[in-house]
Amino acid sequence: MPPSEFDLIEKYFHRTIVTRNDVALGIGDDAAVIRFPPGMELTLSTDTMIAGVHFPEDTDPADIGYKALAVNLSDMAAMGAEPAWATLALTIPEPDEQWLDRFAAGFFELAAEFSVQLIGGDLTRGPLVMTVQVHGMVPAGMALTRRGARVFDQIYVTGTLGDAGLALASLKHANGVRGWCDRFLQGRLNRPTPRVREGIALRGLATSAIDISDGLLADLGHIVSASGVGARLCIADIPLSSVVLENSDRDAARRMALSAGDDYELCFTVPRDRQALLKAAFNHFACGVTCVGTILEAPGVRCYGSDGTEFHPDAIGYRHFQ
Ligand code: ADP
Ligand code: MG
Repeated sequence: MPPSEFDLIEKYFHRTIVTRNDVALGIGDDAAVIRFPPGMELTLSTDTMIAGVHFPEDTDPADIGYKALAVNLSDMAAMGAEPAWATLALTIPEPDEQWLDRFAAGFFELAAEFSVQLIGGDLTRGPLVMTVQVHGMVPAGMALTRRGARVFDQIYVTGTLGDAGLALASLKHANGVRGWCDRFLQGRLNRPTPRVREGIALRGLATSAIDISDGLLADLGHIVSASGVGARLCIADIPLSSVVLENSDRDAARRMALSAGDDYELCFTVPRDRQALLKAAFNHFACGVTCVGTILEAPGVRCYGSDGTEFHPDAIGYRHFQ
């Protein structure tokens, strides 16, 4: 007899790898119960991943599990929030236990790193789709939003951009990169590092923040339109990894960094008089932080080369309905 959904939940998802003492009741009842700390605000976010849309069907299930949580933790990072609890609604075509075991391994590996407890979910049969909801907290009034960028703030990004874009391009065209380069790029695409600690460090420092899921142009575009300002981007300053530089020409690399999604780095704005504080805060972090432009009054995002000439990127980020 094939296992029931309850057997599968018990075996693969009801794990004690993270047991938070603010969880009064976790998996196994009709709803979870949380003891929410006073003085904090609740941050909620959800993201769906669909086979064939967000990842190729044959992706390692451990990577799928990892990324399904990572993209949600990245949203918490962009809010300056500390992630704490997650739910998982998983639809699978077959009760494939090998697949579930790998999927859970990837999911819980990242959950353990950030002390996020899986407190509930749903398990159904159908085309492979997963929706994770993550719940986090932030001291009252301290959440970073897209709305606070002000004229003359400096624009920063964490890490390097375009790695996931190049990984996807080389997957699709089966060209180019080999060896450790390939492993680096696959890692950047399949196991993005949510910048949670960095986001928390930006509380009280950044005036606005977003995570880069759709490319720098599109996501910075969200900041400037929500804030009622514009931006000047210096494309020569965009941080590119050595792997991207070695495997594509500089112009193509910049276009990728601007327009390709899935990097899950943070983009944020900081007033000029807080730059020393920012540098000090990022001393502890391995990912690095780079100034890529300035907030200006005129709406929209404009890109300039190092010689001051305007640069016209060919595409903006991925859109599901266009
Ligand atoms: P109900 O029928 O009351 O919605 P379910 O049968 O869907 O309950 O789930 C039983 C318990 O298992 C619930 O506590 C639910 O949150 C949890 N659960 C179901 N699917 C998952 C999953 N994929 N991951 C974690 N917990 C799950
Ligand atoms: Mg249910």
